[in-house]
Amino acid sequence: MGGATLNGLPAWVTLLRAPNPGPMTLDGTNTWVLRAPGEEYAVVIDPGPLHEEHLARTAELGPFRYIMVTHRHHDHVEGAARLSELSDKTPVLAADPAYGTPPERKITTDGLRIDVLDTPGHTMDSVCFLVECGNDRAMFTGDTILGRGTTVVAAPDGGLGPYLASLELLTAYPQVMMLPGHGPAHADVAVLATYYLEHRRERLAQVEAAVRAGADTPEKVVDLVYPDIEPAVRFAAEFSAAAQLDYLRHRDRESGTSADGLDRL
Ligand SMILES: [Zn+2]
Repeated sequence: MGGATLNGLPAWVTLLRAPNPGPMTLDGTNTWVLRAPGEEYAVVIDPGPLHEEHLARTAELGPFRYIMVTHRHHDHVEGAARLSELSDKTPVLAADPAYGTPPERKITTDGLRIDVLDTPGHTMDSVCFLVECGNDRAMFTGDTILGRGTTVVAAPDGGLGPYLASLELLTAYPQVMMLPGHGPAHADVAVLATYYLEHRRERLAQVEAAVRAGADTPEKVVDLVYPDIEPAVRFAAEFSAAAQLDYLRHRDRESGTSADGLDRL
């Protein structure tokens, strides 16, 4: 993929990687602790899964002003309530009110300036956090852009149309470092957003071709577009294919045109 990985994190950022590696979580969930120089209170982004040792290790870096979550998947938010308990009832901020209080758009606290950007697509509640500390700017992307590989965009909780718009939004932040929910940090979020926009558009073109060749279900699309897919992630590819078919269907309905074959879907 495009763009350089980041050599070393800024001093105000600490990464704790949760011990939950897997095909969907890469090396594990990245829990980020942000503390501006000289400040007592830090902010946590994505406490991760309900893993006592990981949460206890994170709590040692308190006190915290907020626990913030990028989206409602359990590998990011499941440990939020327990971490709050372990850290003097730190408030949890989450776009989905099932997990915490929806955050303000702009938060200024403890030497950090945090913009909350709506970036639906991976899930409809996905947000990115643009954080400024001194002269540094960092984008915390959750699963909207991973440090490695392609994220899942799956119905019913995600959607490709919103996802493409979210990637467009992130292309507007050149030279802002990217700190994702899984995998390594990168030097420039706009470079990755541009790369994934192109990648998604190429895939869409391949799916359109597959539909023209007679693939009318997600399973058949995966057979044609991803013939060498690993069995462990095949279900994710089928979810993605369903989202692509859905996107093409809506796009053609809205534009009043229909690509060959799409009217059969
Ligand atoms: Zn996720």
